[in-house]
Amino acid sequence: MEFRDLKKQYQVLKTDIDSKVQTACANAQFIGGAPVKDLEKALAEYVGVKHCITCANGTDALSLAVMAWGIGEGDAVFVPDFTYFASGEIVAYEGATPIFVDVCRDTYNIDPVKLEKAIIKAKDEGKYNLKAVVAVDLFGLPADFDEIKKICKKYDLLLLEDGAQGFGGKLGGKTACGFGDISTTSFFPAKPLGCYGDGGAVFTDNDEWADLIRSYAVHGKGSSKYDNIRVGVNSRLDTVQACVLDVKFDAFKKYELEDINKVAAKYTELFTAAGALEKGMVLPVIKQGFYSSWAQYTIQLPKGADREKIQSEMKALGIPTMIYYIKPMHCQGAFEGTDSAVADCEVTDEICDRVLSLPLDPYKSDEDIQKVVSELIKLV
Ligand SMILES: *Cc1c(COP(=O)(O)O)cnc(C)c1O
Repeated sequence: MEFRDLKKQYQVLKTDIDSKVQTACANAQFIGGAPVKDLEKALAEYVGVKHCITCANGTDALSLAVMAWGIGEGDAVFVPDFTYFASGEIVAYEGATPIFVDVCRDTYNIDPVKLEKAIIKAKDEGKYNLKAVVAVDLFGLPADFDEIKKICKKYDLLLLEDGAQGFGGKLGGKTACGFGDISTTSFFPAKPLGCYGDGGAVFTDNDEWADLIRSYAVHGKGSSKYDNIRVGVNSRLDTVQACVLDVKFDAFKKYELEDINKVAAKYTELFTAAGALEKGMVLPVIKQGFYSSWAQYTIQLPKGADREKIQSEMKALGIPTMIYYIKPMHCQGAFEGTDSAVADCEVTDEICDRVLSLPLDPYKSDEDIQKVVSELIKLV
């Protein structure tokens, strides 16, 4: 069994993908052009924002947002402690300080109550200019934006939605990657909407920031790329990747998003019926009004379970599993000795030892899910 079966997906979409990529090659159109422009338009429309700017990867997308806001030394940004490294890395890379905030035990997303506490504490200490909050849509589930937006407004902080895993999610009728003052996503192959290499996008309704981001992404261009009015980076989505995404985005909208929700629901149904909760396992919780794009199906093993042993026994049965994430952000070596290493995140500390992500994609059959559930239940 594949953890995320991109081979199967390619077999289904092969004719269309091959034909679009071949056209780009025949036209020798590799940078920019209509495929990239059309994709940006389609993505912006789907998300419901004015501007979509594609770029080289999801990390660059986050960096471009932070650059547009001029965040740097002396500034602090609040970031969940339980996430992929990039969410906090981009803050530190610009010279600012990430302050890590604990997450909710059931949703894995930043805890609004603890966020407000961390803001008040940092405000009282007065060491940094508090600039922004990064809210991550972890595992495909939108963060609690109703609460987070209120807090951002109250303390005058910008909201950056890291939707690298969240594309396709919804909350109260609104689509993910449209919740932040700026939002971002990643098209890394294993993300909900992935291309065949690296890719990313930035979303915003703000004209001024959109212009700045388009400039920063092309060497700080002014009227042309040979007129450079600021120091920027080179961050583009390749035309070939835009062609792949064109086909994949169609499948995503037509059936993949719906199908992956069915696969996730099947996991929950079978685990519940098999007595997973009674055994002390924790299953993903999707609260009323939320819709996940299921970047991962992540469970927590019972307290004290031997995760390493379970993983290797599952592997021997041909079932791959992954650990997202094994280490709290504030414990990462890159932050050792900095203010970012000081964090009060008891939930993250605990779940890092318990989480296990299971094979998931829109093409998994009921039999696949049945096999994962019945084998895992035997091992816990
Ligand atoms: C994957 C990911 C990123 C980075 O995206 P890349 O395209 O790999 O640079 C950022 N944040 C989160 C939460 C991610 O999962």
